[in-house]
Amino acid sequence: MEKIKHPLRTNVGHFLNKPVGYSREFEIDFSEIFIEPDLNANNLKGKYSFSRTSEGLLLQAELEADLEGQCSRCLEPMPVHVATHFEELYVFETRIKEELDEEEVPNDGYIELGIPFRDYLLLEMPINNICRPDCKGICLDCGQNLNLGSCEHNHGIEYL
Ligand SMILES: [Zn+2]
Ligand SMILES: [Zn+2]
Repeated sequence: MEKIKHPLRTNVGHFLNKPVGYSREFEIDFSEIFIEPDLNANNLKGKYSFSRTSEGLLLQAELEADLEGQCSRCLEPMPVHVATHFEELYVFETRIKEELDEEEVPNDGYIELGIPFRDYLLLEMPINNICRPDCKGICLDCGQNLNLGSCEHNHGIEYL
C-alpha cells in the first residue's frame, strides 16, 4: 500500500458556506506518522474541531503522541509522551489581517494540519528526559555509555 504523504491535509472548503457557529469534530488515531519536515510520531491520537466564526475558522485540538526523544544523561533514544491542547484561528484572506499570528484560510481550501500539530507537540517536549532514574550517563572524556559498562576514566557517582 502506498504511504499517504499528507494524511493531515484537510479540506475545509465546505465550511466556508456554513453559518457562523457551525462546528464539526474529527478524531485521529495514527499508530505511526511522519509529519513534515522532521517529526516522527507514534500513537498520535486525539480530536480536533473546526468552528466557523465571522472571521474564518477556529481550529481547536487536543492531541497526544509518543515522540522520539533522547535521554539527556546517556543520549540514548527514548520515546517521550507529550500531550497538547491548542487553538489556532485561520482567517479569510479577504479580511485585513490585524494580528500577525493569525493564519489564513488557503485559497485551495486545504489546511495542512501537520504544521500546527507538529509545532504544538514539539512545544511540549520536555528539555530533560531521563531514560531511567538511575541512568549513569556517559563518560565526558570518552563518550562511553556508563549503563553498559565502565571505561578507564574515574567517575565516582557524578552524573552528566
Ligand atoms: Zn539514560
Ligand atoms: Zn571514559
